[in-house]
Amino acid sequence: MSLTKTVCPYCGVGCGLLAGPDGTIKGDPDHPANFGRLCSKGAALGETIGLEGRLLTPKVAGRDAAWDDALDLVAQKFGDAIRDHGPDSVAIYASGQILTEDYYVANKLMKGFVGSANIDTNSRLCMASSVAGHKRAFGTDTVPAIYEDLEQADLIVLVGSNLAWCHPVLHQRISAAKAARPALKIVNVDPRKTATTGLADQHLRILPDGDAALFNGLLAHLADTDALDHDYLKHHVNGHSEAVEQARLTNPLDSGLSQEELDSFFALWAGTEKVVTVYSQGVNQSGFGTDKVNAILNCHLATGRIGKPGCSPFSVTGQPNAMGGREVGGLANILANHLDIENPDHRASVQAFWQSPTIASEAGLKAVDLFQACASGKIKALWVISTNPAVSLPDADGVAEAIKAVPFVAVSEINARTDTGDLADVLLPAAGWGEKNGTVTNSERRMSRQRAFMPAPGETRPDWLIISQVASRMGWGDAFSYSSPAEVFAEFVALSKATREFERDLDLSGFEEIDYDNLIPTQWPKNGQRFFADGKFFHADGKAKMLPIRAPQPQQRGTFTFNTGRNRDQWHTMSRSGKAPRLGAHLAEPYAEIHPDDAARLSVGEGDLVTLSNQYGTSVLRALITDRTAKQQVFAPMHWTRQQSSASWINNLAAPVVDPVSGQPASKMSQVTVKKY
Ligand code: SF4
Repeated sequence: MSLTKTVCPYCGVGCGLLAGPDGTIKGDPDHPANFGRLCSKGAALGETIGLEGRLLTPKVAGRDAAWDDALDLVAQKFGDAIRDHGPDSVAIYASGQILTEDYYVANKLMKGFVGSANIDTNSRLCMASSVAGHKRAFGTDTVPAIYEDLEQADLIVLVGSNLAWCHPVLHQRISAAKAARPALKIVNVDPRKTATTGLADQHLRILPDGDAALFNGLLAHLADTDALDHDYLKHHVNGHSEAVEQARLTNPLDSGLSQEELDSFFALWAGTEKVVTVYSQGVNQSGFGTDKVNAILNCHLATGRIGKPGCSPFSVTGQPNAMGGREVGGLANILANHLDIENPDHRASVQAFWQSPTIASEAGLKAVDLFQACASGKIKALWVISTNPAVSLPDADGVAEAIKAVPFVAVSEINARTDTGDLADVLLPAAGWGEKNGTVTNSERRMSRQRAFMPAPGETRPDWLIISQVASRMGWGDAFSYSSPAEVFAEFVALSKATREFERDLDLSGFEEIDYDNLIPTQWPKNGQRFFADGKFFHADGKAKMLPIRAPQPQQRGTFTFNTGRNRDQWHTMSRSGKAPRLGAHLAEPYAEIHPDDAARLSVGEGDLVTLSNQYGTSVLRALITDRTAKQQVFAPMHWTRQQSSASWINNLAAPVVDPVSGQPASKMSQVTVKKY
């Protein structure tokens, strides 16, 4: 049987696969992200393609409906709301799981035709702080590094990143590099001991949000020991004096580390030319996430350690297509093709290309704000695409109530029952992974094709087509008359060409003549290219910017800091990974990690039930007593939903606190009380 080349639908590593309709899954030896490697989740994908639990027909008010009736109703309700209450009364909330073509069409509809930027996605929960940090430092949302840098570095610093479980194939690549070259040093900066810590030469167990104090301390050390690259700073970077001055006001002991640990880390970093700093959700999911990103970027800019082989900051994205979404404007505060929504010339150019009647002129509502606007009655029609905010957003009970308050809700889904789908007036059955075609971009800017290797079941349709068919019914058929994802992709590339006058990182000229069906995994602007080693940035004066970062003071609140994260073998709310029996065997039920001293103080024994609670909700979880989690902290995985485990799911405990710059929720930083059940 011939197998189809496609890409894993889970994490941002973007591994290539060979897949067949009988469930055969192999790693693609030719894909440059994984060279044939897979992790447990990817290897079990063949167990997830059955039709049990699938949504196969449209539903209106819970009953089977014809596609035409469902699409007519969505178009009518959106049109009515826009006519009666204006374009900002409607919203789309989408997903880093959908493909670039789906994202492109949804953004074109909302920003260019509805005239509102109220389109945000669950990528806001993933890497919005990295986007904001990149834009502040570089003038654009650019990931400078490529995966090969992990093999070429002499020091890899993993900050807030449990790579072993969340980006396992990158962890495999680093493990192999260290086995081949033991001199490669690895430092893990994380309040928890994780599976990743086992690979590290040094574990820096910071306090929650201690990262800014740590990297400010490093910057001050670099300045005080004459380890800055003054030539690079002079020609290519603004703001270094102010950043260093602010860093010197920080007490690095506020990170929670000892002076000995700090001295050793600072000396190692300063003394190693080839440093890659990898950061992920532990940095991003914080009320200070953007500042933490810039504290890291400051150190790399100050030493010119950027964009060179084995030498860069590196944000690794959680989701399979968070990067592709960013490319086509998949957040409420950006425009397609890395153009700026605040820039009137950018807006005019995109509008002219789309020949659209309007263009959103300011940022729309970001995820948490969007659902608060639902609760307040501002949103009259909401369309949720391929995500489950009623259980995945912070204060999820509050979000579920907010969705109920919206007069009309459409949900595009592959599953018949989800917590969000159950609140919908209209359910639109979407084709899923393996059933549809499109592209995704992984964490190193590499575009790969997701290809269908099975027919779309029942009446399911790809998201780009569903959105186009609603747009046509709203009167914009000429602009949404796509007959294939290849046409959508070609328009995305053409938009890049049409806006080339605006200098920026995203250059898709290498994709202008491609054979879409046979596209091999390709990086933009071209394979193997890093950014910024030449000192050319995208602020108006061509320079980068270092930001003065005020590190937050550690706070003793007398409660527990609640940290959420992932298990090795599950993905998000388990809508796909939960179908694979072998994945369920790893950690089968919800649990809370609690330190032995705290457990003793609370008279909690191994396996006892504990109640976690705060003003947003309550959750009863099995105690897992371990010093992997530090004292006065408690960790729980995020996967279980209200439907799966009504008393034991956890996003009802996450506070709807967001980073003021990026709008990303602080999902790792809520406060809870813990009691024996
Ligand atoms: Fe899929 Fe990520 Fe595992 Fe690769 S590392 S197989 S992309 S889940």
